[in-house]
Amino acid sequence: MTIAHKRILLKLSGEVLMGSGGLSIDPDVIARVAAEIADVKHQGYELCVVVGGGNIFRGISGAARGMDRATGDYMGMLATVMNALAVQNALEQIGVETRVQSAIPMSSVCEPFIRRRAERHLEKGRIVIFAAGVGSPFFTTDSGAALRAAEMKCDALFKGTSVDGVYDADPKLVPTAKRYDTVSYGTVLAQDLKVMDASAIALCRDNNIPIVVFNIRQSGNLAAVLRGEGVSTIVQ
Ligand code: UDP
Repeated sequence: MTIAHKRILLKLSGEVLMGSGGLSIDPDVIARVAAEIADVKHQGYELCVVVGGGNIFRGISGAARGMDRATGDYMGMLATVMNALAVQNALEQIGVETRVQSAIPMSSVCEPFIRRRAERHLEKGRIVIFAAGVGSPFFTTDSGAALRAAEMKCDALFKGTSVDGVYDADPKLVPTAKRYDTVSYGTVLAQDLKVMDASAIALCRDNNIPIVVFNIRQSGNLAAVLRGEGVSTIVQ
């Protein structure tokens, strides 16, 4: 099943930037992902990218060790800025123009999030990388991805993860778990399927933004899924 799309938002979880050697930001892994993003860009898509930060820090893990949750979440958001700069660097090394916009303004490092300016970057053929999620604690970068996808009028949200899609049970624990080709927002929410957090799913549902969950660790999969050939689950 394919979706007609011209402008897409790609959500990269922090964990997909990690290497097998335990590096939280692995330059080889990022270079490969950047090459795939560049390939899609050259096919004429307009691309927004939202990066996570879970490879470096999650507020909830800090809170589990006694840290104030909001403080931990701000640390997590700063981690996403590091990842965004790493992705920007990898893309620019292969000649792709990018801009990073952060939901938490830090003017010496990157642009603040300004929707109209982001729109202009896309018109000029640049990839816009959105960092710092929604800019507030108690949210995730999945919610940031859904929000930016809605604001930037993206045709679909592609969630690049390390699994092939959405299953009816955890495939690591249940060998008979079945992957959905398509599944409704309602089923995902009612059965609490592990796709994105509920607020992100609801925002996509309310704005009719399909979510395509696919394995970005598999080489060539981003382009294949865009052609409607790769393995994925479409939440719609
Ligand atoms: N975070 C936040 N607000 C946001 C986005 C992120 O507080 O709008 C914090 C939160 O602590 C989160 C961390 O940043 O755990 C890293 O983001 P996330 O867990 O979404 O990254 P991913 O799982 O995609 O790597």
